[in-house]
Amino acid sequence: MKFVIIGGDAAGMSAASRARRNRPDLEITVLEKTEDVSYSACGMPYNIADPNRLMEDLVVRQAQVFRDKQGIDLRTGHCVTSIDRSARVVTGEKTSGDAFKVSYDRLLIATGASAKLPNIPGVDLPGVMALKSLEDGRRIKDFIAAQGVIRAVVIGMGYIALEMVEALHARNIQVDMVKPGALFIPWMNRDMASVVKEDIESHGVNLHLGQEIKRIEKSNEDLHVVCNNVTLEGQMVLVGIGVKPNTEIARDAGLDLGTGDAVSVDKTLRTSDDNIYAAGDCADAFHVVTGKKTWIPLALRANRAGWAVADNVIGNRTELPGIVGTAVFKVFDMQVARTGLSVAEAEKFGFEPAEAMIKSSTRAHAHPGATPLLVQLVGDKKTGLLLGAQLIGKDGAAHRVNAPAVALHAKMTVEEFTQCDLAYAPPFGPTWDPMLTAANQLLKKM
Ligand SMILES: Cc1cc2nc3c(=O)[nH]c(=O)nc-3n(C[C@H](O)[C@H](O)[C@H](O)COP(=O)(O)OP(=O)(O)OC[C@H]3O[C@@H](n4cnc5c(N)ncnc54)[C@H](O)[C@@H]3O)c2cc1C
Repeated sequence: MKFVIIGGDAAGMSAASRARRNRPDLEITVLEKTEDVSYSACGMPYNIADPNRLMEDLVVRQAQVFRDKQGIDLRTGHCVTSIDRSARVVTGEKTSGDAFKVSYDRLLIATGASAKLPNIPGVDLPGVMALKSLEDGRRIKDFIAAQGVIRAVVIGMGYIALEMVEALHARNIQVDMVKPGALFIPWMNRDMASVVKEDIESHGVNLHLGQEIKRIEKSNEDLHVVCNNVTLEGQMVLVGIGVKPNTEIARDAGLDLGTGDAVSVDKTLRTSDDNIYAAGDCADAFHVVTGKKTWIPLALRANRAGWAVADNVIGNRTELPGIVGTAVFKVFDMQVARTGLSVAEAEKFGFEPAEAMIKSSTRAHAHPGATPLLVQLVGDKKTGLLLGAQLIGKDGAAHRVNAPAVALHAKMTVEEFTQCDLAYAPPFGPTWDPMLTAANQLLKKM
């Protein structure tokens, strides 16, 4: 059987490797448009922060290792441009300009996502860049070194934009951040978002909210980001306004698209064509809390979905229950974590949300080194179910989010969550872990 995979990063190479482990005799071909495969995009901001590290450090497994040790026919420089579903053939163009054609029995679309760019004049000027691929990372790093960047403007305030602000700050670059929306981290509890905002500003970063971005201009050596009532200058403009799924070839082939224009898949990752699967950032997923389709492009889901496709392709039926939207990032000293639904999302999906936000501590009372930890929990008054959690703090927020994440998968009520036996010792938290204190407070409001 010929298993063909379009896209050679998290979802694609996870599927290829597991398919090989599953079936040593399977004919596996991966078509990747760039020269980079199997790398950690998530590590790029931290790599850019350090001028002494090579971007290549982020490559998890070299292309040649997949070819030589795993017998995977991995073809880089192969961009797929169309899928002929009736002939079961994909066609495309090599970097050399030559055309190619590959037939398949089972196909996986793992084309990921691309950085969104604002539709404004000047977005194509040299020095205006987005960070998505390893090549983008190299370009940004080379640009900083070659141009001696000392000021930058970051458009957008999502997690990649915020991670990049920390990276640029580490390179001694003065940063202005700007976005049209008036709310900083809109999905977050307002009190908690203010704490994160103030922490970023305390590092000398200027945040400009509610600024419509009109155009980018270049004069002398500088770029100017012209907004409705401020113009920001820098040698470099980094665009971090989110990503969109790469689904053009799927759409042109007539496959169903779903939430966020991602390829619509069932729990086995099958698309509307029985022979074609989709996984990773280009595909949608079920949300365990809402039971509805969602599109949350993150790395674990991409890897896990790739594995599930590899199992399904060889006939080991595997269903993925879905995701709860667990995510974490760091900006300067602040860890920001979330899982499940915010209050606004809970309302949107027909729940009757109650919310509790508490300020606790990362260590026991009077234990040296304690820092504040803020926790917000959301529950549904109608069913008693836990719906979501948000945490911020300089320590101990990132991994604590995993407890409510598991509770969401287990569909626990808030009351059940209050009874969980969570760990305690003074260096790690108070006797009542902050998650439990928040759950006890929430229970009173349910
Ligand atoms: C800066 C940054 C930081 C991140 N940090 C985190 C984090 O901390 N935590 C987290 O969970 N996630 C993070 N992510 C997201 C994570 O990297 C993605 O969810 C993950 O890479 C998705 O894997 P994927 O295989 O679906 O898609 P991708 O990694 O986008 O790979 C898709 C591949 O398909 C190729 N391709 C596309 N179209 C074609 C075509 N027509 N023909 C052939 N090849 C094609 C692309 O070149 C690419 O190599 C981060 C992303 C970025 C950019």
